[in-house]
Amino acid sequence: MDPLPHVIIFPFPAHGHVNSMLKLAQLLSLSNFDVTFLVTVETHDRLLNHTDVLSRFGSGFHLQALPHGISMDVMNTRDGIFILYNSLNQIAKPFLRKFIVNMNSPVTCLIADGILSMVENAMDLTLTKVKGMENFLRGRDLPSFCRATDLTSPNFRIVMTETLQTPRARGLILNTFEDLEGPILSQIRTVCPNVYTIGAVHAHLKTRLATKSTSSNSLWQEDESCISWLDTQPSKSVIYVSFGSIAGLTKEDLLEFWYGLVNSEQKFLWVMRPDLIIGQERKDEISVELEQGTKARGYMADWVPQEKVLAHRAIGGFLTHSGWNSTLESIVEGVPMICWPRFADQQVNSRFVGEVWKMGLDIKDTCDRDIIAKSIRDLMDKRNGEFSQRTDHMASLAKKAVNEGGSSYINLDRLIQDIRSMIP
Ligand code: UDP
Repeated sequence: MDPLPHVIIFPFPAHGHVNSMLKLAQLLSLSNFDVTFLVTVETHDRLLNHTDVLSRFGSGFHLQALPHGISMDVMNTRDGIFILYNSLNQIAKPFLRKFIVNMNSPVTCLIADGILSMVENAMDLTLTKVKGMENFLRGRDLPSFCRATDLTSPNFRIVMTETLQTPRARGLILNTFEDLEGPILSQIRTVCPNVYTIGAVHAHLKTRLATKSTSSNSLWQEDESCISWLDTQPSKSVIYVSFGSIAGLTKEDLLEFWYGLVNSEQKFLWVMRPDLIIGQERKDEISVELEQGTKARGYMADWVPQEKVLAHRAIGGFLTHSGWNSTLESIVEGVPMICWPRFADQQVNSRFVGEVWKMGLDIKDTCDRDIIAKSIRDLMDKRNGEFSQRTDHMASLAKKAVNEGGSSYINLDRLIQDIRSMIP
């Protein structure tokens, strides 16, 4: 019997990265690949407890923990993610070398997260301008670390180093689809010719499994009761609010959003993660106005099955921090967005939503209750027709891409073929 391809998948240890790369792992497992999923100790332990996620994989799937020595206390600080990155930078490459040498079955291919190129060698190039985005990208659409005037700042250097490493890879797997980002993809192909756009992976996985139901990889307990609440609401009447798995809000920001939501007089479902408010418990008292408005029209949850929520007929809009997974999940379900980006790629994503795809409103760093209330009313009511035309169109292109014969479907088949051909 021919040996099976063996792939190591190494996601950055943030929920959105692990989640989508676990779906990629499942897609490859479905094609009979051996997959080793390399994650930090905390994610490893969470996944081990999450037996229903693991039960989706066969005997060819292996979880491997990567010890990094950073305590949870340090990881939960403002710069925790960068401290963790720096630690991985030190340990990941030597760990992987040793690990690969000691493996029983030879490794055919390593698929590393786009910001974990420390597993490759260093390279010396200079980035001069953002090609393909000359017409719409402004300074405020760039994440703060790219706006740094000090080009030696550690966060800027991380992004530069990672970006410049990318062309070294044999191929680039992107969780996007051709019709969504054609011009940018053409630009990327000038430096990395072998691009596999296989997204949106969550929708793609559903196609390959021939199922309509979502397969959540959530590492946290999901509050399913919000779905029963949504079932009681009229179609497209609820705005869904979530700032993803990492971003935090100051208490002042939180109150502006809360008043904005209540004053908009729309129904809302809000993910209020226990660690959402920076440096503080959220048990503080709130005004009678907010309490009554929330009781009448709101539903709060610690964590929800987001893909299922966005697919629910009662959802008419999404107030989001513009994380890439959330953006794609919203696009696939045809839900218009209000974008309040925080960091990393979110500022660029929100600009695409507002200006390029015209699927919603990009409020950038504005945090004012009147503007928030007006934006919600515009999205859900006044300008709804304008947005829903665009979101319906994009949702149908997203579905076409992952269906048989679509660009993402063909690219995944090609990826699988190419990895197979790498077996010596
Ligand atoms: N998510 C979820 N339940 C929630 C909030 C978020 O399942 O209550 C998921 C969401 O579906 C997405 C991921 O968490 O897949 C967040 O990833 P994203 O890239 O949007 O943002 P990040 O968390 O990386 O900032």
